[in-house]
Amino acid sequence: MNFEQLGLRAEVLRGVEDAGYTEPTPIQAQAIPAVLAGRDVIGASQTGTGKTAAFSLPMLQRLSEQPRNQLRCLILEPTRELAAQVQDYIANIGSHTGLRSALIHGGVGYGTQIEALQQGFEIIIATPGRLLDHMQRGAAKLDKLDVLILDEVDRMLDMGFLPDVRRILKHCPRERQTLFFSATMPPEIKSLADWVLKKDPLEIEIGQRLSAADTVTHAFYPVAGDQREELLFELLRRTDFQSVMIFTRTKVQADRLFARVVKETDHAVTVMHSDIRQSDRAAALQGFREGKFAVIIATDLAARGLDISGVSHVINYQVPENAEDYVHRIGRTGRARREGDAFTLLAADELPYAESIEKLIGQKILRHKLDEFPYRYTTLLDDETTVPFSAAFGRRKGRSRSTRRRR
Ligand code: AMP
Repeated sequence: MNFEQLGLRAEVLRGVEDAGYTEPTPIQAQAIPAVLAGRDVIGASQTGTGKTAAFSLPMLQRLSEQPRNQLRCLILEPTRELAAQVQDYIANIGSHTGLRSALIHGGVGYGTQIEALQQGFEIIIATPGRLLDHMQRGAAKLDKLDVLILDEVDRMLDMGFLPDVRRILKHCPRERQTLFFSATMPPEIKSLADWVLKKDPLEIEIGQRLSAADTVTHAFYPVAGDQREELLFELLRRTDFQSVMIFTRTKVQADRLFARVVKETDHAVTVMHSDIRQSDRAAALQGFREGKFAVIIATDLAARGLDISGVSHVINYQVPENAEDYVHRIGRTGRARREGDAFTLLAADELPYAESIEKLIGQKILRHKLDEFPYRYTTLLDDETTVPFSAAFGRRKGRSRSTRRRR
């Protein structure tokens, strides 16, 4: 199966070629013909499966056949970062179509956004709040919309955006195509889907609704709560990583840890959470993507959907309380069939969270002990599944990136 056989035409195929894709992923093979045929789609797909191309490629082709200089496609995203990533992706992969796309989100000025709306850019990628702002000022009109794409709807629900989304939807023409993506389908999302989708949408579910990519190796590092920081530094010292994302539960912890990592290690490090100014957030992410920073410390703001190639390690400073957050976080590594490692520091009181993660991903996660680390106390180390650090990594022979560098 190749992209041509899915019905894509030259101007879109050239973008696919530029991206270096040779074979469609399963979600692409299913979605592309259906979207080209004008069907609505409701999709649950794990992160890193090629979902963005699955909706962008056929959308670009359909829009190529429509009159230009009018807003034809609206894509709603939960966070500014995701919106920016999708816009960047579409601008690149759609560069041979001549279609124009603009990014609309808060935290930045209105000027260029209004200009893009006035000039009739065909594609808008937006977060809900700022788009509503433009709509209320009469700057954004959705009456010519052909395609509406709602991405990461469950995240929009978590962030309290569903009322805004409903308000926006009321201004979209009834005759349109809707593509709806959500990793989970709680009742609020199900009822939104029933409302926005036409009868008989194509339902796509790749693997489990939420599952971890099988290219990721998981490891728990039991540690007493007060030795967490010490163990993290030791892990950073001993691990030969390319780039690492460290997740914390709170913004305060992220800031604190950032200051400590700067002081204690030689790594180029940056930090990202929602209290940081938008321009600094963008710079942090950009710097991390480009390899200027080897380490990024972040809250769950950075956990969803962001596609950064070459993240070799994700480290959870604490066990996330919500098992699904774990899957989203570790989805930042092991993307597009590369291998990745997910390390999670585990204190005794976090054991119930650890167990629900194991249940969700359907596998027992090995506990690892760092040789010669001055553990003060942790009962979890006596667990029968505990294996010494060196032995654990010795078992993974044949992997090019190993974790054996010592001081
Ligand atoms: P996504 O799930 O949309 O975030 O995509 C994850 C990564 O897979 C991105 O880096 C894409 O560029 C890449 N990707 C998407 N489709 C393909 C494909 N058919 N072949 C290879 N890589 C792909």
